Amino acid sequence: MASRNLPLRGAFNPSSAREGTNPGSFANPPAIGRPLSFSSPDTPGMPAPSNKTAWDFLPVGWSRSGAFATAPAGFTALTQLEHARLGVVTQEMRRVAEREPHLTPEQVRDEVGAGRAIIPANKVHLGFQLDPMAIGRATQTKINANMGASPVSSSTSEEVEKLHWSVRWGADTVMDLSTGGNLDECREAIVKNSKVPIGTVPIYSMIIGRKIEDLTESEIMKGLLHQAKQGVDYFTIHAGVLREHLPFVEKRLIGIVSRGGSLLAKWMLVHKKQNPMFTHFDEICDIMREYDVSFSLGDGLRPGGLADASDEAQLSELDTLGELTEKAWRKGCQVMVEGPGHVPFDQIEFNMKLQRTVCHGAPFYVLGPLVTDVFPGYDHITSCIGATAAAYHGASMLCYVTPKEHVGLPKKDDVKQGCIAYKIAAHAADVALGIPGSRDWDDALTKARAALNWDKHFELAFDTDTARAFHDEDLDVDTDFCAMCGHDWCSVRISKEIVEFTSGKADGFARERVMKSPALSPEQREILEKRGVLPAEELHRLASKTQSAVGVEKGNKAACHSDVVDGSRAQQIQEKLVQLRVKDSATAAED
Ligand code: SF4
Repeated sequence: MASRNLPLRGAFNPSSAREGTNPGSFANPPAIGRPLSFSSPDTPGMPAPSNKTAWDFLPVGWSRSGAFATAPAGFTALTQLEHARLGVVTQEMRRVAEREPHLTPEQVRDEVGAGRAIIPANKVHLGFQLDPMAIGRATQTKINANMGASPVSSSTSEEVEKLHWSVRWGADTVMDLSTGGNLDECREAIVKNSKVPIGTVPIYSMIIGRKIEDLTESEIMKGLLHQAKQGVDYFTIHAGVLREHLPFVEKRLIGIVSRGGSLLAKWMLVHKKQNPMFTHFDEICDIMREYDVSFSLGDGLRPGGLADASDEAQLSELDTLGELTEKAWRKGCQVMVEGPGHVPFDQIEFNMKLQRTVCHGAPFYVLGPLVTDVFPGYDHITSCIGATAAAYHGASMLCYVTPKEHVGLPKKDDVKQGCIAYKIAAHAADVALGIPGSRDWDDALTKARAALNWDKHFELAFDTDTARAFHDEDLDVDTDFCAMCGHDWCSVRISKEIVEFTSGKADGFARERVMKSPALSPEQREILEKRGVLPAEELHRLASKTQSAVGVEKGNKAACHSDVVDGSRAQQIQEKLVQLRVKDSATAAED
């Protein structure tokens, strides 16, 4: 037999029981508490990790004393970062360690203190039902689901339902990106009903009913304070897009694709002034600190296509995000940094490791990235391929992408598909990185599969109903084979005959006895009925709902459709419609 030198570098084995024949992870040693906790080996040419952490950016008046720091007399710690710096293990840190048993509460504190992890937990939200969690390299990879009403679709109750639905399918945090309906009421309802941290992009709500160029600096501060008081756990703040970066965008194929980035770019061009989020960053920090709202430093210049990836605009903004990370740490705030977007597969590792250097290990929160641009309708797949690589090479949280990305507002099933794609990416990366126990679930399912224990197989499946429905579609009895290969060709059955292997079977299992499956539940039946496409009636229902929202008569195109009027007229009509809807909801609120 040929002998091989397997590239085992000392990572933890992801299986607690060390079962099976797999030798374990090929990643680097776990090194919790160091810059390279749970990291992939570098391919040649990757940037080295920063030799600085949040400890190098203590606020004025603070000093290091032993493992921790001393604050000026009379200081009161408000944020998780400040508590960690003073050596305090908070209740929230203990809860994180309970949820991530490979970490001790002290390790959680130390990762937060170094700025390599955050616990997004607004003190107001903690008063409702928030269950604290952490985002960082030493923890399991997290996923975020975006939701939010748009000017033409959805309502507060639908959004709260989407919140529960996203959490049901594994979202670790949810971002409310509403741009229509009653934004305030919707945000408040979402925070009150959520066990997971809620993020927002506050600038969206600030421009409802007004043009971006009319937005003043004091309104920005007022808006941020209002949302902090409502209990939002993290804000996307696009403070890294600077005036001097804008000329770099000219050569791009698709310009600025971030909503926040494009709005602020317009503000800067109209006013011929620097980004107000940048110039007022210190005051923003003061608001964030008071409520312990974490920063999610937005990537307003993220690439919107493969051709624009890793360009000067994106990387110049990243440098600024590194400086802002240092500033926020000096103000006692928790920080994560947002990243691209659309990135060819070969550039993902570099992008992750560059951020690790520039932002001194602050958690990286990435959108995908999509590794190809030509599969609209399937961008949950194009992006979860990139997300798996991103999580393996350095990202701590993955923002999901649904099949509706680029083409429409996600509906319930799109949210489910996006969440599942990203749970796959996050879990695959955790196993690869050797996070202890991360493969136990896979091993349990493998055993049930090997034993042809269908009940256990489906119970362990992430989406039990779909797995059971697919099985029973062709064969609704639990036999020692399934419809894919049939009895004579079932390799698992044949293997079992070679070595009698029933370790994962249910109690009372007898080979000769065929087990009848329980009948399909209504949910499982629905899955089979909806396979492939939405039924025509559902499509029409959704289409007519949108059409009535924009005031179009049945069978005709909307007055703002570009087949009917030219671009600028279409825009005027659309703006008017949005204003009208805002006025409607304001009047309704007064009523
Ligand atoms: S029939 Fe084929 S797919 Fe089904 S259990 Fe056997 S080997 Fe697996």
